[in-house]
Amino acid sequence: MNFYDAHFHLQFDSLAPHLPAIADDLVRVNCRAGVVNGTNEDEWPTVASLCSQPSALSSQFRFIPSYGVHPWDSGNRTADWQRKLRAALAADPRAHVGEIGLDRWIVDGVRPGDPRIAGLRVAPMDEQREVFAWQLALAAEFNRAASIHCTQAFGPLLEVLRTTPRPARGFLLHHYGGPVELVQPFADLGAYFSYNLAAEQPKRTAERASFRAVPADRLLVETDAPAYAPPPERNRFPLGTDPDGSVINHPVNIAVAYDALAELRGIALEPLAAQVEQNFRKLFL
Ligand SMILES: [Zn+2]
Repeated sequence: MNFYDAHFHLQFDSLAPHLPAIADDLVRVNCRAGVVNGTNEDEWPTVASLCSQPSALSSQFRFIPSYGVHPWDSGNRTADWQRKLRAALAADPRAHVGEIGLDRWIVDGVRPGDPRIAGLRVAPMDEQREVFAWQLALAAEFNRAASIHCTQAFGPLLEVLRTTPRPARGFLLHHYGGPVELVQPFADLGAYFSYNLAAEQPKRTAERASFRAVPADRLLVETDAPAYAPPPERNRFPLGTDPDGSVINHPVNIAVAYDALAELRGIALEPLAAQVEQNFRKLFL
């Protein structure tokens, strides 16, 4: 049985001390590949170099690079961002596009003084939409998978997806938190849907409902590491906390995510893993 992580962030500082061993650690829990999502121009070279480093077990594991401007970073892109993104995709036929998307919460839901917006120029929705649509069309041009983040903007997301060229191979709605009614319309446009351990949180009933409604051939599993660590008793690799108090999630917890999600979906682990392997290969390999 093999596991695949559809979305995480190897380049984030809190994972840095663990990088030398991380591919080997992942192989030990039967993880075979993971998609490393860069969220802004500064991160792209780091993502590229992390994904090209050989490890003792690298023949058994692949870090797959993905480059994008996240909606939170859209207001801080440089004048040269489009040229750089196009060059990154042209340079590596394995590379995909993401993390890109739309986020209304960062525009009108975030508390002023939240450390996550310190130093950011938050792009208004019109600007986010323009940046997102351009990247989606670029993914379509290269036929690379687009990994999409969406918070409180599922109507506009559907509209952009309907009116913009989309990658023929499909796209990922990462950590899908939209309404269950939109699962089928998104799937009709080519969407895959990934879920992580957040789906276990008691308040996330809508997320569990949508998770159960996703067609089996469009389902993927992610850690979003270093976010969304499992509770301490199931954490396979406790790493302590970030300065902001959040528990750091090691990507080996992908195995814990598969277990939890199989249970939430009411199916055994083996058939879930076999299906997700097929889906992951179609979208990302
Ligand atoms: Zn992410």
